[in-house]
Amino acid sequence: MPDQIDEMTPLACEGSTQALTTTPVVGSPGTALAPTLAPGGEQVGPGEIRVTILGSGDPFVRPSQASASVLVEVGNAAKDLFFFDLGSGALKNFTGLRLPVTATTKVFLSHLHADHVGDMPTLLYSMAKAGRRDPVEVWGPAGATEALGTQAYTATLLDAHAWDYSSLRGHPGQSGAAAVATEVPFDRTEVVYQHDGVTITSFPVIHMQDGAVGYRLDYAGRSVVFSGDTRPCRFLVEAADGADLLIHETFPSPSVYAVKAGVPPAFAEAVVNGVHTSPVMAGKVFAAAGARMSVMWHLAVDHQTVGSAYREMRTAHDGPVTIAQDLTVFNVTADAIVTRQAIPDPFPWPVLGPTGITGPPMAPIPEPPAWWADAMFTG
Ligand SMILES: [Zn+2]
Ligand SMILES: [Zn+2]
Repeated sequence: MPDQIDEMTPLACEGSTQALTTTPVVGSPGTALAPTLAPGGEQVGPGEIRVTILGSGDPFVRPSQASASVLVEVGNAAKDLFFFDLGSGALKNFTGLRLPVTATTKVFLSHLHADHVGDMPTLLYSMAKAGRRDPVEVWGPAGATEALGTQAYTATLLDAHAWDYSSLRGHPGQSGAAAVATEVPFDRTEVVYQHDGVTITSFPVIHMQDGAVGYRLDYAGRSVVFSGDTRPCRFLVEAADGADLLIHETFPSPSVYAVKAGVPPAFAEAVVNGVHTSPVMAGKVFAAAGARMSVMWHLAVDHQTVGSAYREMRTAHDGPVTIAQDLTVFNVTADAIVTRQAIPDPFPWPVLGPTGITGPPMAPIPEPPAWWADAMFTG
């Protein structure tokens, strides 16, 4: 098979509108889709799942790539959307899609590495100021100790932003600047969410220490599996049985990583194979899992990484594959999986949709500090 992704392939961050994929269309879509996704321009249909990569990069957030985050929208009556991880820069890409800020109420965290949670303060506080009136529900793994779990993380995050919350007294966004955390087990597969036709199952993955999971989302017979960060893991392969879309973390091979990161080969080996998944192992996972579309994600995408990562993966797997960039979009239906790039609106303002006011009641507007009267410059 000829190399379809190599060192010369144009990248989205350079203006390419093509996804990095072997197979833009798997199957035969019932209706033809536009070559790119325009912000706010397409509804998710009944029975459809639309997956958008909000953050395709690694911990080193860069202009071309936000850190780890995947958005999943489903075509149910509630028009639910789910964040899977929320790394730094993810919400910049979300806003560019012109989706309703009022719907940003469900987050599933794979683990608590900073590159997977960096935009949580923005979600909790800035998106509340932008119009979300309902609290955020956060699911994430328990830890080896209480202090290392998602409930402690969420509680301390709220404590850390006490000044922001206090500033919202008298602001309608106060009801949305709240979070409720639910922990999921890190050592067994379990259904953790069932609502409005959507089932989400967490499963254990192997990453650094106790407290890392992946997720599978099922809706209307369609399914998406998200690895979070992991070494190759049989729980994931089992969870991906019959899946439509498998999004699996992939790091560059140790030799490429050593050169790019400027670290000794032994350290690169420890990072790539001791903590993450190499391209060739990602290929083996893809071959074993057998998803309709497999996605290499969490890869630093540039002209030195994509060619070798693609070729090494291809030694183990010959099915449809995509290398995720920011705003790569997958429309998943029974008929087809269509892979494209979304072209974000560079100048969006918040979009409002239906909202409740289910969070804490609005506190009265406080008196301004007395010393402001003297400090105020009035021209
Ligand atoms: Zn991690
Ligand atoms: Zn990571």
